[in-house]
Amino acid sequence: MPALYLHPADPLWQPAGPDAVAAILHAAGLIGRPDAAAGPGEFAAGERFMEQLMFLGCAPQPVPDPALAADGAQPCSIHLHHYQQVRLLQDEPRPAVRCATCRAAATVSAPYTCQIRYHCGQCGREALLPELDWRKGAGFARFFIEIRGIYPHEAVPSDALLNTLGGLSGGGWNYFYIRR
Ligand SMILES: [Zn+2]
Repeated sequence: MPALYLHPADPLWQPAGPDAVAAILHAAGLIGRPDAAAGPGEFAAGERFMEQLMFLGCAPQPVPDPALAADGAQPCSIHLHHYQQVRLLQDEPRPAVRCATCRAAATVSAPYTCQIRYHCGQCGREALLPELDWRKGAGFARFFIEIRGIYPHEAVPSDALLNTLGGLSGGGWNYFYIRR
């Protein structure tokens, strides 16, 4: 199922505990009740789910309420992912990575760790791997918010949601899409 992923710009940041994040996201209306059948860290869309995202163009609206998901339409759901180590989540195939300064194609290879420096052969700038332009198709973090049921570029996080998340982490947040 296609999904929009949000993660802190600082790849090392992680929340103090899973419950703290869930409480804040529930208060903001992004997430609803835990999905007992799905497992911990999995939630149905909340009461103000549609306000937490900004839908672009006239793309079909996702269905936030499972009760309204008729005719086989999958309802949107939210999944919180915590990892001990920083990890790269990416679309398949991943969009061509670029230097964020001069936009020249960047050739990157495994291991994908956030401490590895990339030296751009065109403009000479050095950047850590997470600082490259991953074209909204990948991200490095220890904590991700996955919003399932959103197609690439169908919706972006609203300013309200980014402010909520910024208040949580004390820094900026990025997002990307995985088509799956
Ligand atoms: Zn460059």
